[in-house]
Amino acid sequence: MADSPQALHAPTSDLLFTEAQRYIPGGVNSPVRAFRAVGGTPRFIARAVGAKIYDVDGREYIDYVASWGPMILGHAHPQVVRAVQQAAERGTSYGAPTEAEVTLARMLCEAFPSIELVRLVSSGTEAAMSAMRVARGYTKRDVIVKFDGCYHGHTDGLLVQAGSGATTFGIPNSAGVPASYTQQTLSLPFNDLKAVRDAFANHGERIAAVVLEPIPGNMGVVLPAPGFLQGLRALTRRHGALLVFDEVITGFRVGYGGAQHFYDVTPDMTILGKIIGGGLPVGAFGGKREIMEQVAPLGPVYQAGTLSGNPLAVAAGIETLRLLREPGVYEGLEAMGQRLYDGLQAAAQRVGVPVYTTRIGSMFCTFFTAQAVTDYASASTADTAKFRRFFHAMLEAGVYLAPSQFEAGFISTAHTEQDIDHTIEACQRAFEAVAKA
Ligand code: PMP
Repeated sequence: MADSPQALHAPTSDLLFTEAQRYIPGGVNSPVRAFRAVGGTPRFIARAVGAKIYDVDGREYIDYVASWGPMILGHAHPQVVRAVQQAAERGTSYGAPTEAEVTLARMLCEAFPSIELVRLVSSGTEAAMSAMRVARGYTKRDVIVKFDGCYHGHTDGLLVQAGSGATTFGIPNSAGVPASYTQQTLSLPFNDLKAVRDAFANHGERIAAVVLEPIPGNMGVVLPAPGFLQGLRALTRRHGALLVFDEVITGFRVGYGGAQHFYDVTPDMTILGKIIGGGLPVGAFGGKREIMEQVAPLGPVYQAGTLSGNPLAVAAGIETLRLLREPGVYEGLEAMGQRLYDGLQAAAQRVGVPVYTTRIGSMFCTFFTAQAVTDYASASTADTAKFRRFFHAMLEAGVYLAPSQFEAGFISTAHTEQDIDHTIEACQRAFEAVAKA
């Protein structure tokens, strides 16, 4: 086999994937990377710079995965790299407080006026899990309301009708989660205020928090209907429950102040991740002082982390946020987002492929469905076989999209008009391939 022509000519990604599967479940360290939803071999990545990502076979792609959101400045931004290098030279972890943690915490509180105290952790999952514990500790209630298709990481109690990889694999409830862990979780249709009103009518006294992605990015990109977020704010306030925004994706993505600034709705607590670590592992949860004072060592809600506030990760986060504060950054992202959206729409129309494209700023999703996508049920009408063909045609044309219909695409400040135009041309051809099949 070793000297058969196939083996000699097999792409290195194929060889590495075979090897990876000997040691790592499914060959990957996070399931959606395995390309199961689209078939084929995941590209093993050798390096990335700016808007481009390069696989181990030397192929170049325009990248819209952006490490699933964090790389809003593009890859290997020289100033972020320098900040990490300089931090590493001072030591990689101390398990003791640092000035840089204070700086990042201050930047988060300044960007999000709803956050008065914030705790840094190492992932979005950890932040969401901890926020739910704080919400329950503060309200002394147990029930969490979430929404179908929203994903808040892989913490037990929130893996109910979860989006992202769980949607793709059709396993909204993971094995290994005791039924008792999710009995306190109520999952409702997104954008359905009546369902939330009914839930409060039936269980109002037991509901600790309503948690949601204010702009879901884990069932593809879905926009909140006018009044939905405001309605949730009013209902939670009336019933003494906390409103928790999971802005792991949208924080610093749809604007420096996230979705809460964009829609002018103030949650009680906010969950952050991705961009605030500039591509290194950081998460955060924060909110009103009185609520966050529940957290140890001030209060009775226990939460801790060996690598929390890690100096390298915090350095990358601070530098990223500093660069995002420069004038014109979000206007530039908006312009590129609009250019891509217009091009995609025009290409789909020319070819006659029914798609529903959603976009807000620099995050977008093209659903292969003729109907408007407003929630998990309508997202699920997307034709995943068409997406699979589209995805591979794009990959062949040098455009790297998330390998699932139910994910967001992300534009960075490194994407140029030429990158966008190349992507639109590739889209046109990919739509033609979809239409022909
Ligand atoms: N919340 C949201 C909205 C997310 O998109 C994600 C990850 N995609 C998470 C939480 C979990 O974050 P992490 O993967 O860093 O644990």
